Amino acid sequence: MRIDILSVLPELLDSPLSNSIVKRARDKGLVDINVINLRDFTKDKYKTVDDYAFGGGAGMVMMIEPVYRAIEKLKNEREYDEIIYTSPDGEKLTQKTANILSLKSNIIILAGHYKGIDQRIRDHLITREISIGDYVLSGGEIPAAVITDAIVRLIPGAMSDEQSALSDSFQDDLLAPPVYTRPSEFMGWKVPDVLLSGHAAEIDKWRHEQSLERTKKLRPDFGTDC
Ligand code: SAH
Repeated sequence: MRIDILSVLPELLDSPLSNSIVKRARDKGLVDINVINLRDFTKDKYKTVDDYAFGGGAGMVMMIEPVYRAIEKLKNEREYDEIIYTSPDGEKLTQKTANILSLKSNIIILAGHYKGIDQRIRDHLITREISIGDYVLSGGEIPAAVITDAIVRLIPGAMSDEQSALSDSFQDDLLAPPVYTRPSEFMGWKVPDVLLSGHAAEIDKWRHEQSLERTKKLRPDFGTDC
């Protein structure tokens, strides 16, 4: 899988994409992630990527030319399954979307900045718009890192225990059950007996019940018929 992230502030993406599971997946060659600086696709000496909004008003707008040039260059090299724009008004990122995206081969993610991007980019170049929540961030780099992380951890081999991704919250519309580790008792607070019993079937049953209970309590909007 290949993920190309277009950004005017690539430094913002350094740390989230070079640690933990994403780093391991990159090191193992499971995913090729490239952060592309849109300033490399400008033609003026100041490497301008933004300009004033037509019609006036506060805030700058990301220009179409550098974005167009960057996307055209990438599209000439390979076919892309999706060209995603991170946007607060896009479809809300869910586990289902991450699952679907993790099956794709080539993805571009465009991180916006300033007041947003020239609408013509959205109309003509973008295939999908994704929001990471109903709030406004300063730029699309953190959303791009969130989307990338959610996708990459699902690629087989990215996590040390592949089962682990399947038992996370939101897979099967269920929240994950509580987890505990040593010591089995701390300040008189005990780990549930069943987890120490060594009885695998009982433990599975308990975990499933806890998942159902937690989902019902915390996210009653989810289906609990699984
Ligand atoms: N004026 C825009 C917000 C611009 S914020 C509006 O009101 O909708 C600057 C950039 O940050 C956006 O172009 C987008 O790429 C990114 N961004 C901000 N909040 C986001 C969110 N919740 N999800 C995804 N991207 C977001």
